[in-house]
Amino acid sequence: GAERTKNVLILMSDTGGGHRASAEAIRDAFQIEFGDEYRVKRIVIFVKDVWKEYTGWPLNDMERSYKFMVKHVQLWKVAFHGTSPRWIHSFYLAAIAAYYAKFHPGVNRCYCPSEEVAKRALLDGLEESQTCVFGLPIRPSFARAVLSKDQLREELEMDPELPAVLLMGGGEGMGPVKKTALALGESLFDNDLGKPIGQLIIICGRNKTLAATLQSEQFKIPVKVRGFETQMEKWMGACDCIITKAGPGTIAEALIRGLPIILNDYIPGQVSHQPHHLKGNVPYVVDNGAGVFTRSPKETARLVTEWFSTKKDELKIMSENALKLAQPEAVFNIVRDIHDLACQRGPLANIPYMLTSSFTSLI
Ligand code: UDP
Repeated sequence: GAERTKNVLILMSDTGGGHRASAEAIRDAFQIEFGDEYRVKRIVIFVKDVWKEYTGWPLNDMERSYKFMVKHVQLWKVAFHGTSPRWIHSFYLAAIAAYYAKFHPGVNRCYCPSEEVAKRALLDGLEESQTCVFGLPIRPSFARAVLSKDQLREELEMDPELPAVLLMGGGEGMGPVKKTALALGESLFDNDLGKPIGQLIIICGRNKTLAATLQSEQFKIPVKVRGFETQMEKWMGACDCIITKAGPGTIAEALIRGLPIILNDYIPGQVSHQPHHLKGNVPYVVDNGAGVFTRSPKETARLVTEWFSTKKDELKIMSENALKLAQPEAVFNIVRDIHDLACQRGPLANIPYMLTSSFTSLI
């Protein structure tokens, strides 16, 4: 038709699992909402390596690098079509990514996952009209999940009756996963009755060492140890609560599935220059009654055991509180807003849109 295909370029670092999941979410939501009207391309930039390798220019000269890129729109085109040598990608794009770690005053929109982030954006010099609070973009498969818990348990070959706890640590399988698994293996076995009162699912992500170690353990309760899973919405939908480090992606997904959350750490992914951000996710969950924070594997095991036996009511209330915080429509609102912006600019505009979002923290 008359519509020209529009290009969307997502620049992301591939640390942890959250950035990738958000990028996939935006790509899928564009497809669902607008079909072939948009073509979404993702470019992975190696922020970590560049931080390590270049301590001087261009990282100390972000503003100039950024302005250079904007002036030389051709560079964006080169980046988009992916034919440029790798050094252009890692060099300029990393410079821009690092620059964007602070909010850029020239953005058309800054999509903030929470009001708290929006406030920080205002403090960093953005106008209110530049910020939008829709929530963290989560893959549409979470919002559009159709299978019931019973169906999912059958598909995933889980015990149909026993309450289930999901244990994970982001895309990289980080945090005190092993100690927690061992403690749960003991506490979820009722010695008086001689049988388990719960089952355990452990998702190790890309941490192969962790998966191998846990595979070789003997447990008294039903346990599944998995590597990197591509259908997290199914595992979450089949479980009754989750234990995780305070990663924003996992938290937002768990809220959508109504899972009470035990946060056991706020270690950041490999992006360690903003460690304080993850900390803010803890009060967001705890103060809203959707979960608890404890670093102790023993305490974690005790809490889950209570939730599965004497304190089932508490688990139910926390699940309801989690659902109240859920924002499954966020990603659709984001792509619709981008579409509106694109329409306002008209088809002849060839300056790319500068869009940023803080995916590192809910708060
Ligand atoms: N994830 C996944 N498969 C796995 C482990 C994790 O798809 O096996 C996803 C998870 O659903 C979430 C993301 O990876 O979307 C983790 O993001 P989070 O912000 O929690 O932590 P990060 O890994 O970025 O530090």
